[in-house]
Amino acid sequence: MELGKYSMGIGDRFSHQAKAQLSGIKKAEAEGIVIIPVWNKSFREHQIIKSNPDETRAQADEAVASLNWGHGHFVDADHVGLKTIDHFLNSCDFFTLDVADFIGKKAEDKNLNEFVENNKKFCGSLNIPGIEKPFEITQDIIKTIAEKFLFAIEEAGRIYRRLAEAKGNGNFVVEVSMDETDYPQSPIELLFILSAIAKENIPAQTIAPKFSGRFNKGVDYVGTVEDFEKEFEQDIAVIKFAVEKFALPKNLKLSVHSGSDKFAIYGSINRALKKHNAGVHLKTAGTTWLEELIGLASAGGEGLQIAKEVYRKAYNRYDELCGPYKTVIDIDTKKLPDPDEVDKWNEEKYASVLRHDQSNANYNPNFRQLLHVGYKVAAEMGERYLNALSKYEETIAKNVIENVFDRHIKKIFY
Ligand SMILES: [Zn+2]
Repeated sequence: MELGKYSMGIGDRFSHQAKAQLSGIKKAEAEGIVIIPVWNKSFREHQIIKSNPDETRAQADEAVASLNWGHGHFVDADHVGLKTIDHFLNSCDFFTLDVADFIGKKAEDKNLNEFVENNKKFCGSLNIPGIEKPFEITQDIIKTIAEKFLFAIEEAGRIYRRLAEAKGNGNFVVEVSMDETDYPQSPIELLFILSAIAKENIPAQTIAPKFSGRFNKGVDYVGTVEDFEKEFEQDIAVIKFAVEKFALPKNLKLSVHSGSDKFAIYGSINRALKKHNAGVHLKTAGTTWLEELIGLASAGGEGLQIAKEVYRKAYNRYDELCGPYKTVIDIDTKKLPDPDEVDKWNEEKYASVLRHDQSNANYNPNFRQLLHVGYKVAAEMGERYLNALSKYEETIAKNVIENVFDRHIKKIFY
């Protein structure tokens, strides 16, 4: 099973927007740009919403059938490890093996030494085509990198073998992710991580490193754009080099996690993809749930009422909701509006404070991030929330499509 050059991870927390999301992707297809949709949902999300991967699979398949999508699609077991993978074996065909928690744990000495021995050939001035300056590599550098990452990649190997045993080799796409950690990985670390992935015989088609800068959920990139662009291009060059040297899958490409709404770096990504003729997997998730809220608010009536209630409850349960997402949100609580004030807002005001349009003076990234992690509140509303999704489907779909196509696809893949 092969993932195409361009692919996009889309999240659909309440399993109601798959068709709208695919409609956005189809707008690009109509203009000759094919992006493979990958519906992703993590164990954490499934637990909070009390949903299961079968539902994601059913929604995705139904959207694909009803819109006659002919280019393949996937359902991603997002951020799984040995403890959670069984849950996803039946319904998924894309697996994001998350080994970030194992970074820094030391592999056995024997394995470390063997790894250094096998990679000794890169010592000295290492020229990687596409990167201006050579890297100066020593055995010590390789050893330090191995001490940091080898055990994590061995863990990825253990998860992969469990998968291959259950589903059969080649029947799914594998991604290795190490983005949910404190420190970014440098291009040269990436090179030796890929060497370890090849050694473990993991046929990874995507790799999600942690890039420099902050990738907060649902809001823009925070960091130096020039540095990101340089790092991103170097990562692309390293991947090309590694694919040849280590015989990794030819379509191996970068995966950008928490990739929604990073408008500041979309220009850099777009340029780098063109310049190097490279592919990318852009993983987004909660941004669609926010479009549901915007659609509900814009519709007025009961829709706006629900949107206001979700905010009030999220505001009152700040610690509980933000806790699991601590490393991927930055909320200035002083800038959160009081729920009593929000209750006075009309549909337009609510939508414009939440919608990610930086040219609108009403836009409030703090409000947006809190609601991003506030989907648990909507999940607890149960039928009432789901009924509203059906009732206001048209307004919501319009917002979902515009977000997927205009704010994301057009900026990255065009
Ligand atoms: Zn991630």
